Amino acid sequence: MLDMEKLGKLAADFGFTAWGELDMSTLEFKPEVRDMCEANTCGQWNRTWACPPACGTLEEMREKVKGYHRGILVQTVGQMEDSFDIETMMETAANHKKNFDALWDELRKEWPGLMAMGTGGCSRCAKCAYPDAPCRFPDKLCPSMEGAGLVVNEVCTANGLKYNHGKDTICYTGCYLLD
Ligand code: SF4
Repeated sequence: MLDMEKLGKLAADFGFTAWGELDMSTLEFKPEVRDMCEANTCGQWNRTWACPPACGTLEEMREKVKGYHRGILVQTVGQMEDSFDIETMMETAANHKKNFDALWDELRKEWPGLMAMGTGGCSRCAKCAYPDAPCRFPDKLCPSMEGAGLVVNEVCTANGLKYNHGKDTICYTGCYLLD
């Protein structure tokens, strides 16, 4: 049974700034997000198992999430000195990824079949095995929410979570689909 109070405490203990229950009906996988991925401004399109097109089609994503009823969104927010504070941006992203992995391991004890969607591409290996060999860490392989085809700020807002946490803040968001 999903106990949001306990999950919220867990999210706080694992270092997240904010969290909220995720309603599956708010997960809309949109072709326009995939179009942005394909424009490849981040350079990750067709480069790793965690990003499109390898991470799965929008239809496959829709099918996958049908198996879940509820989940949790987690956010890490960083306060930058100004909008050019790249150091805080990178530090916040690294903390978010580390905490996301750690909470993923913890939640898996109770929900071994959970589905995770994280933030950004996968940088676990210096060079991704894609496309010549399978992922080296399939247990840690997940698409980002954007890579999956979601508009992250829309998902946050639809679930009562802020996406913009104020002037010169940076916010990273991920989610776990549990049961
Ligand atoms: S864990 Fe390694 S092999 Fe797997 S997607 Fe990430 S970078 Fe590629």
